[in-house]
Amino acid sequence: MGKLGASILAADLAHLAAQVKLVQDDVDLIHIDVMDAHFVPPLTIGPVVVASLRPCTALPLHAHLQVETPEGLFDDLVEAGADAVSFHLEAVTDPAPVIRKARGTGMRVGVALAPETSAESAFTHLDEVDDVVVLAVHPGWAGQSFQPEALSKLRALRSEIDRRGLSVDLHVDGGINARTGPACVEAGATVLVAASAIFGAEDPAAAARDLKRVAEAS
Ligand code: ZN
Repeated sequence: MGKLGASILAADLAHLAAQVKLVQDDVDLIHIDVMDAHFVPPLTIGPVVVASLRPCTALPLHAHLQVETPEGLFDDLVEAGADAVSFHLEAVTDPAPVIRKARGTGMRVGVALAPETSAESAFTHLDEVDDVVVLAVHPGWAGQSFQPEALSKLRALRSEIDRRGLSVDLHVDGGINARTGPACVEAGATVLVAASAIFGAEDPAAAARDLKRVAEAS
């Protein structure tokens, strides 16, 4: 059964605990976009906020690192209470030791792919990870339009994951809403990650409920 992740990138961060509580009955995980103003231009939040959020929800906290040296954050994230971490293949020259280091923390480990990165770049690592995050927008900002090229990447990853009999979760992140979500589920995504479609909605809980139904179709 597919899952829904709520990305707090579009939440009102001054009321983060309240925003998460509003949707937590209708989502399966909280997705936290960590950006460093180097790998991507924006600067967002990091382990300090993860630690503050940890006692506010029982949901898994998934840190999506859009940073230049992801391995430098692993220890702080696990100490803050993160359950899962994903880093960008484009951020490191050799992903294998970074995956091993993340694995050593006990968190779920994933790799993320920016739009210009091929599905095949992740194939080498599929046996070593729990999650693959396919970005359907450029990393850095909420509110961008879904790039349909992500669908063929999802299909390629899904078919390789299935061919090897792996239980890797396939996340799609960026531009996900009730209109774009069904095609992603159809293409093999098992986790829909939504930011603006949930926290930008007039009724975030209702928006999450609708999207959860879309995700569960997988
Ligand atoms: Zn993200």
